[in-house]
This record gives sequence, C-alpha cells and structure tokens, in this order.
Amino acid sequence: MIVMKFGGTSVGNADRITHTVDIIKSYAGKKPVIVVSAVGGITDRLIELANAAKGKRKEILEAIRKIHNDIINELGLDESILEEDFKELDNLINNNKTVDAEILDQFQTFGERMSSKIVAMQLNKMGVTAQAFNAWDLGFATTDEFGNAEPLEETFSNLNNNIKKLNVVPVITGFMGKTKNGEIATLGRGGSDYTAAIIGNAVDADEIQIWTDVDGIMSTDPKIVSNAMPLEEVSFAEASELAYFGAKVLHPKTIIPAMKKNIPVRVLNSFSLKNKGTVILNKVAKSKHVVKAITYKKNIIVVNIVSTRMLGAYGFLARIFNTFDKYKKSVDVVSTSEVSVSLTIDNENNLASIIDEMKDIAIIHVSKGKAIISVVGEGMRNTPGLAGRRFGVLGDNKINVEMISQGASGINTTLVVDGKDVVNAVKCLHEEYFGC
Ligand code: ADP
Ligand code: ASP
Ligand code: MG
Repeated sequence: MIVMKFGGTSVGNADRITHTVDIIKSYAGKKPVIVVSAVGGITDRLIELANAAKGKRKEILEAIRKIHNDIINELGLDESILEEDFKELDNLINNNKTVDAEILDQFQTFGERMSSKIVAMQLNKMGVTAQAFNAWDLGFATTDEFGNAEPLEETFSNLNNNIKKLNVVPVITGFMGKTKNGEIATLGRGGSDYTAAIIGNAVDADEIQIWTDVDGIMSTDPKIVSNAMPLEEVSFAEASELAYFGAKVLHPKTIIPAMKKNIPVRVLNSFSLKNKGTVILNKVAKSKHVVKAITYKKNIIVVNIVSTRMLGAYGFLARIFNTFDKYKKSVDVVSTSEVSVSLTIDNENNLASIIDEMKDIAIIHVSKGKAIISVVGEGMRNTPGLAGRRFGVLGDNKINVEMISQGASGINTTLVVDGKDVVNAVKCLHEEYFGC
C-alpha cells in the first residue's frame, strides 16, 4: 500500500485534477490511499468567510461556490455532488454570527470535504473505482485542541481496520478529524501532509508520497532563489529540522509518524513527472554539500529576558520555561547566558500574561518583525569553517545577526536577523554554500 497526498495546487483546477487522476491511475497496482488538500486558496477563503461581516459573507460564499462549480462543469461532473456541503456551510453561516476556534475549524474543513468528492468522482469517471471519505468516517479521532489537534492513539488502529477492508480507492480529506465528543477539529494549516503520514503509519504503507508544485525539497525556497536545487535524499532528522524551521513544502509534524515505522517519504512534483523528487529516509548517503538547505521563517518575535537577581541565582531558567510551559507556548530558538535568555516565538498569544508572571525576576524586552534563518545539514557538525563563512558573507553584505543558536543534534544552526534583511540573507547564504 502507498499513501499519495496531493496539495492545493495539484487539485487547483480541472486540468490539474485530470493530471492528478492520471498520476493516481499510474500507481493503481500499488493499492494507493489518496489524501487531498482543498482546492488551492480555498482554505484562506473559508477563513475569510468565517470572519467576514454578515453582508460580505454571501459574496465570499458565492465566490467559493463558483470556483468549485467551474471545476465540476469543466470536468463534466454532476454539480449536485456538493449540494449537501453547501447546505451545511450555509447553515453554519446562519447559526454563527461570531466565530471561535471550534467554529473556525468547522468552516475550514469544507475545502477538503469538497475537493475529495470531486477527485473521487473524476477517478470513477476515468475507470478507477474510488470513494470520497471524510477522515473521521474512517476513524480519525483527535484531541480538542482546535486548530492544532493531534490524533488520538485509537486513530491508528481505526484507520488500519477501516482502510484495509475497503475495495475502492479511498480519497480522504486531509487535515481534519473529530474529537471524542464528535466536534470537528483541524490539525493546523498545511496539515494534510501530517494526515498522509498518520495514515501511512497506520496502514504500514510502503511509501508516503507528498505531491506538490516543486521538484521536491530544495536547497532553499525556490520562490526566493530561482535556481535552488532539488535534493535527492534527505534524512528524517534533516527533514524535521527543515520543515520545523520554515520549509513550507512539508508540515513540521509529517516526519514523526513516518520515522516511527521507518517509512520512506517521497516529495514529488505533480507538474513535472520526469523529476525524481526527494526521498526522506532514516539514513542517507553522504552528500557533496555539507549544508543541505537554508530555510527561513518571517514574523518572528524575539523576547530578551534579563535576570534582575544576583549573578548565579539558581532557578532562573526553570522559572522562565515553566512559565512558557504553563501557557503552552512553544519556543523556536533559545540562546542563554547565566543571567539572560533570548528566545523566539512566532505569535503574541499569551505573551502579555507570560511577561506579567516574570516581571518580579527579570527585565523583559520584546522585538517584533524579526526572521529566523536556519542552515541545515547532517555533515555540518564535523566540518570546520562553516560558521566563519556564514558570518563572513552576512557581514560583507551588512546584515546584522541578532541571535545565534545551534541545535543539540548539531545539524542545524539558526540565526535571527531583522525581517527586512531576510531575503537578502537567504540569497547570500545560498550563493555562499551552493554557488548559485
Ligand atoms: P502544497 O499545496 O502542495 O501542500 P505548499 O505550498 O504547502 O504546497 O508547499 C510547497 C511550497 O513550499 C513551494 O511552492 C515552495 O515555495 C515552498 N518551499 C519553501 N521552502 C522550500 C524548500 N526548501 N523546498 C521546497 N519548497 C519550499
Ligand atoms: N487546506 C489546508 C491548508 O490550506 C490544509 C493543507 O492544504 O494541507 O492549510
Ligand atoms: Mg502544504
């Protein structure tokens, strides 16, 4: 069995869906299990719909309907397949003047619920017996952390039992499940990759394929550096760091379920079948490039915390991290000395409360609009001189490095720069390490 996940651009219009169906057909002998994202851009539209004022909602809903109906008509399918979904979406709008995290999750799921039906219909039309499933109908149960839900343990056996007994190709909605109380919850933006990996783990897949719009994992974001190079092989450890520190091509949690069962993850371009893509494995051959890739994350907040106690007072770090823990606030980069800590976060939620709780032990300074740049590669830990080159090239280009941190695994070094410098910094570093 293989799991094939198609992202928003791969199901973005009638043409792309026809092409995606051809790809699925070519893997018919491998018992494919399909996971789909919403039609590209639809999740954003659904969020806009949820947050819009009453008068504006009708207009947005009609735009969403038109995008789907145009695809259905162009494919020559029956418009009525989405009637139920639009009715439900209409009710959701009418019953919810205000929107909390739980309701927002309900809105967001309609993209995948509709794209899965279109893809399944088109597969049937092209001779592949297929059926669309909402993930929860196959037993995808989650926690109730709306917008960031995690699969419950039982999800894995549920999915395995339910998928294995099917005699159709399932086309499953990415990025969602239901809580024990039957509430809809999403896994967070970009979470269809994570769904594919969870399903791959559950059914012991031979491979998890992530079909997207670029030639695999690249040496950096091709939207910034047009001649970024595709990477043939990446280790699970490298892929985790890359995804966590900004390579949008993979949702950061995708690697864990694959790694637990040692299932290869292949990232492929649905727009260019001649490319081999990137395979993510437990162990990979030594690459001629010690630095594998450069990633970035924008809109980062740096929090500098300086102790007001005497030098050497113990408990300072514990107090800081306990406070972040209490507010479930994840920290991306940390740099410490005995009396001060600098750390980065990617949103302001609960920040005011955290600062308030620490004001008796520290002076806290917050800087917004920063960016993280990560340089990732397994071979980095044993190669002298890399840091010198990094700071040299950034210094030559007058880019100030505000913070530095190296992960304990030694395969990732992270720098913080001002947001205005991030594109230039990524370009310079890419040129330094890859010569282009
Ligand atoms: P999908 O809709 O298929 O899930 P995404 O938009 O989520 O696709 O991810 C693909 C995008 O990730 C690419 O178009 C590319 O701009 C971006 N990206 C960022 N960093 C990288 C990288 N290192 N390698 C490949 N793509 C990257
Ligand atoms: N459709 C969702 C999003 O846009 C999930 C995904 O595409 O992975 O975030
Ligand atoms: Mg994605």
